[in-house]
Amino acid sequence: MTNVNGETRMLIDGKLVDATGGATFDNINPATEESIGVVADGTVDDMGRAIGAARRAFDETDWSTNRAFRKACLQQLKDGLEKHKEDLRPQIVGEVGCPIGLTFAIQQDSCIDDLQWDIDVIDSYDWESELGVHEFFGLRSNRLVWKEAIGVVGAITPWNFPFMLNLSKVGPALAAGCTVILKPAPDTPYSATFIGKIVAEETDIPPGVLNVVPSADPAAVGELLTSDPRVDMISFTGSTAVGKRIAARASDTLKRVFLELGGKSANIVLDDADFAAVLPSTNMTCMHSGQGCAITTRLLLPRSRYDEGVEIVKAAFETFPYGDPMDFNNMAGPLVNKKQYERVLGYIEKGKAEGARCLVGGGPATQFDKGYFVQPTLFADVDPDSTIAREEIFGPVLVAIPYENDDDAVRIANDSRYGLSGAINGGSLDRALSMARRIRTGTIAVNGGQWFGPDSPFGGYKESGSGREHGVLGFEEYLETKTVGVPG
Ligand code: NAD
Repeated sequence: MTNVNGETRMLIDGKLVDATGGATFDNINPATEESIGVVADGTVDDMGRAIGAARRAFDETDWSTNRAFRKACLQQLKDGLEKHKEDLRPQIVGEVGCPIGLTFAIQQDSCIDDLQWDIDVIDSYDWESELGVHEFFGLRSNRLVWKEAIGVVGAITPWNFPFMLNLSKVGPALAAGCTVILKPAPDTPYSATFIGKIVAEETDIPPGVLNVVPSADPAAVGELLTSDPRVDMISFTGSTAVGKRIAARASDTLKRVFLELGGKSANIVLDDADFAAVLPSTNMTCMHSGQGCAITTRLLLPRSRYDEGVEIVKAAFETFPYGDPMDFNNMAGPLVNKKQYERVLGYIEKGKAEGARCLVGGGPATQFDKGYFVQPTLFADVDPDSTIAREEIFGPVLVAIPYENDDDAVRIANDSRYGLSGAINGGSLDRALSMARRIRTGTIAVNGGQWFGPDSPFGGYKESGSGREHGVLGFEEYLETKTVGVPG
């Protein structure tokens, strides 16, 4: 795949523009290590102009109060994305390196469908409510509670599911009446500039309501966004390390900070589970080369059936289909960039050095001449205190850990600084559910049930973040609350 005709320009104040000074950077395809095109390299000045435009659009237009107009504009956005989605598909595969099959679901098509939830909530949401009369200091008053847009939102997104995560922030923020500056990861700019192009060319969204500023130097433009007093909220998805930095930067101006961060989620398989039915799908840890925050990367197997379980997982890993992302049969392509590739290989070496048994994979996928491919890798007999059992690897690596009994499984699962997701699989739904109540994570799949949906709150406990994305709770992240007293 060579040039994919991605949108090279930023969106600032309603116009598709080049960066100040005209600088660009290459968008690299991780499967070929070649450029698929260039994109504007936004500067700190560009970010400053985008913030100014978003502030003006919030303060000086009726965007935040005119719900019918917002709804019509968001419908235009959804229609425009749908109409041009075949232009986007090769761009996503090219810049993310994800298997093309995923773009028919969560990497592209289902995200456009899910935008309907944000459009519909504008009408269905209870924007104003009444608490009734209360007596205070001898005065009887009625209390009204009004929900209002929080203001200017800085949305900062990672590269693993870029289009989905861009829309997961832009959709509810715009529906709430906010104005937005979207700063995508430098690895995946087209998944954001595409949205900017559609907004500019296919919608009546007023200038400044959405701005898109990619940059090769995310720290410089990102740090202006997270510290500028004109910005009211930062909505961030990414690593826990950067999330902490952003929370610290944003504290000077006390912005609201919404964080979706990393994970090291556990899949607990109970001793009464149907192993033949449950365990083959554990190779889905390698889906999209393991670059998913909510993937269950620790497999907890009961000691009493440990060897039997490990054999099934091993067979599943040995047949996991990966390679050319344009091949519909593949479930994984390469890692997104050289840095991640080296990082993941470093963790694999660390696992071996710390004494875990590498049963499948364990190195670079040398059958490919080019690209950042890593073999699906399974480690067994992993010490829960070892590095590969504790740190987020973000690669196609699963660690199998034996446990003694249910209490031990819960203890190991919860013994993590993260708390994003998890799974329990057992023969009895009641037993699995009672285990699920004891796991400290924001989402959990029980006996194969899936928690994901446009109305499902998604987010983390502990160092996996704060706040929730999607659903009413996710929408409310972008709202302020005004309580009004009137004579009762
Ligand atoms: P990252 O934290 O390095 O970068 C995320 C975003 O922050 C990028 O846009 C980056 O350019 C920007 N950024 C980097 N430094 C910044 C700074 N100083 N100020 C402002 N912005 C800055 O993460 P990544 O490597 O792009 O993505 C992988 C991580 O994201 C993993 O840890 C993964 O678990 C996490 N993630 C979490 C979720 C979730 O919903 N919980 C979803 C996807 C990915």
